Amino acid sequence: MAHRIVILGGGYAGVTAANRIARRLDGAEVTLVNERATFVERVRLHQVAVGESIVLRPLRERVRPGVTVVVARAGGIDLDRREVVLERGASSGAQRLPYDTLVYALGSQAAPAPDDAVALATVDDAWRARDRVGALAAEPGPVAVVGGGLTGIEAATELAERHPAVRVRVVSDVDPGSWLSHRAQRHLRRVFGRLGIEVVSGSVADVRDGAVQLTDGRVVGAGLTLACTGFAVPSLAAGSGLAVDGTGRIRVDGTMRSVSHPDVYAVGDAAVPELPNGRDFRMACATALPMSAAAGTAIADRLAGRKPAGLRFRYVNQCISLGRRDGVIQAVDGDDSPLRMILGGRVAASYKEAVVRGASWFAAHPGPYRPARAVPA
Ligand SMILES: Cc1cc2nc3c(=O)[nH]c(=O)nc-3n(C[C@H](O)[C@H](O)[C@H](O)COP(=O)(O)OP(=O)(O)OC[C@H]3O[C@@H](n4cnc5c(N)ncnc54)[C@H](O)[C@@H]3O)c2cc1C
Repeated sequence: MAHRIVILGGGYAGVTAANRIARRLDGAEVTLVNERATFVERVRLHQVAVGESIVLRPLRERVRPGVTVVVARAGGIDLDRREVVLERGASSGAQRLPYDTLVYALGSQAAPAPDDAVALATVDDAWRARDRVGALAAEPGPVAVVGGGLTGIEAATELAERHPAVRVRVVSDVDPGSWLSHRAQRHLRRVFGRLGIEVVSGSVADVRDGAVQLTDGRVVGAGLTLACTGFAVPSLAAGSGLAVDGTGRIRVDGTMRSVSHPDVYAVGDAAVPELPNGRDFRMACATALPMSAAAGTAIADRLAGRKPAGLRFRYVNQCISLGRRDGVIQAVDGDDSPLRMILGGRVAASYKEAVVRGASWFAAHPGPYRPARAVPA
């Protein structure tokens, strides 16, 4: 019987892994399970939130011909019986999908936020935000973007550029972009100034009655609050009994194999590799793509009796869009610490756009990345 490989999640990580495996393994049966039939370019969701349209391509067009796409929600994993429990909707009930090797790539969702805030982590969040932004743009009122990290910065600038009549306030307990080099932070401040974005320093206690309440008692008026306060992973991995870290990410070795269950691999936002240098991985396409290519290669190598060499990875840069006409590209060292070199302005916006297109292209054609060469087992 053919070896059955089931991949959970059809985002950047899952699609890359599926294509890498299908390309390298002729005899295997590869099935990709995703809750929707389309591939979502998640890195464009701030564009969706402000009312821009993006193309949602059918997943079937993103994977190689040998990959079977199943549109269903994974509701559980039976690790002893090696089965995934699928939820296809109330009418058809749950189904079980058996596997010999499982690749877990379910990504992440928004970290918990106050009820009255709208998150910005999944496509459903972005559509919700788009409807609220649309209503506000008709009758402009202030929007508070909570969080001075990458998503908060991209959302605030996109919003201010597309809806100049809307007053945008970034509420953050740290300076937006505080991890960037001084030059990049200076560029960011200039762009915030040009777009009229106000920065409010403070910690959020709650969001209610059309306002953000800060822990020091101040109140920031907001017709809409966008919560860009980080990502969290679904509880399915921990609930199934896989070894996870304190945040619920699956602990994997250098070949992306679960440290507790050798027939399970995990990649992308949902996984945390335990590498000899102890380095943490940020949730990003920059990490998801090489992790997934490495997992695909390792699975193919192991099934062919070769010993996989595992992930080789170093950071190169951080690419931040500041609306459609500006951006900042921060050069970093291999461990993700900022270097002096940056790019700003239109050239940075074009660079970022090329990177975003490249990420989606790479997932569909994961050929060029080569982890260290496999050696005979
Ligand atoms: C607004 C925004 C901007 C970003 N910008 C950048 C950036 O500039 N650079 C960068 O590197 N990263 C960026 N990121 C982060 C990046 O999008 C993620 O790190 C990346 O998408 C992770 O890939 P993934 O495949 O692990 O997860 P995802 O892309 O989230 O894919 C997970 C897939 O699993 C599916 N799924 C989830 N649960 C289930 C279930 N139970 N059953 C079936 N299917 C399920 C989801 O629908 C999705 O298709 C950004 C994120 C956001 C929200």
